[in-house]
Amino acid sequence: MSEPLDRSTIWPYDEQGELRDFYYQRFGSPTVAAAEAALGELDGGTALLFPSGAGATTALVLSLLEPGDTIALSGGGYYGTGVTFAALAPWGLRVLEFDQTGPPPEEVQLVWVEAPSNPYLTMPNLEATAAHPAPVVVDATVATPVHLRPLEHGADFVLHSATKYLAGHDDALLGAVVCRDDAAAEKLRTFRGQTGIVAAPDPAWLMLRGLKTLEVRVRRQTETAAFLAGRLRAHPAVETVRYPGLGGLLSFDVADAETARRVETSTRVIVNASSLGGVTTLIESRRRWEGERVPPGLLRISAGLEDPTALWTDLEQALA
Ligand SMILES: *Cc1c(COP(=O)(O)O)cnc(C)c1O
Repeated sequence: MSEPLDRSTIWPYDEQGELRDFYYQRFGSPTVAAAEAALGELDGGTALLFPSGAGATTALVLSLLEPGDTIALSGGGYYGTGVTFAALAPWGLRVLEFDQTGPPPEEVQLVWVEAPSNPYLTMPNLEATAAHPAPVVVDATVATPVHLRPLEHGADFVLHSATKYLAGHDDALLGAVVCRDDAAAEKLRTFRGQTGIVAAPDPAWLMLRGLKTLEVRVRRQTETAAFLAGRLRAHPAVETVRYPGLGGLLSFDVADAETARRVETSTRVIVNASSLGGVTTLIESRRRWEGERVPPGLLRISAGLEDPTALWTDLEQALA
């Protein structure tokens, strides 16, 4: 019923002294492999796990690109992805931001979009993206395979921060890349073993358990987010509400940074913390992380599994 959790770093060779499937944890381990198989099935490709979403991002671009190559990156997407790429700039990685609702710029070696983007909540134009000659990565952390299977829309790789919905309980840091092509997956697996950017068994086991309830969690979180988005749209203190109609994440603007700070520190049920995709509803002003990149009054909410009416009552009193 429950998969075993194997923390071994080593497994013996066979009777002839030859390698078995598993021999040293950096090159693969049974619990990680079981979690990869489960996620691969959900996304329709070959999954590989990494120590975090950012680790997965780093491993993927370092294995695919060369110094001087440029990534077309969706503007207004996850702030940390741009930070990771900036950290790799001394090694010759270049980035060109673009509006992902239209076609990516030509003359780039990799296209990176987000479905939907965090915190602007736009959906990428997957048709225009798939028509680009460069490999395409879709960060589908927020959509999850419940709402979107990017490999069926021409993507070459799906990236997940499994820390979010896939593990789903704010207790595991983990990342994943799901590959459409077997050869690409083998290349990335080899690179992962060589560089040591590999997931440990414990978070992989937590993701395996999280996946068992993924669909019911995400469907409920989507209903709650849609409900909150509707209520927020009708509230006089709220300016813009961003919600793409799928997933548990939404953002909205209040008048200014000071008001946003007051709202996020006045909730009683909703927790004032970063991250998303867990069972607890979270709110935070993104200004503290993203600076000028976002409106000063932008608040992001990740819907959890609490009673939606109780969440709205809480938000309403905080807005007041
Ligand atoms: C959190 C997040 C990441 C980074 O994942 P970590 O597990 O925190 O390293 C990447 N993309 C998106 C959309 C995220 O929300």
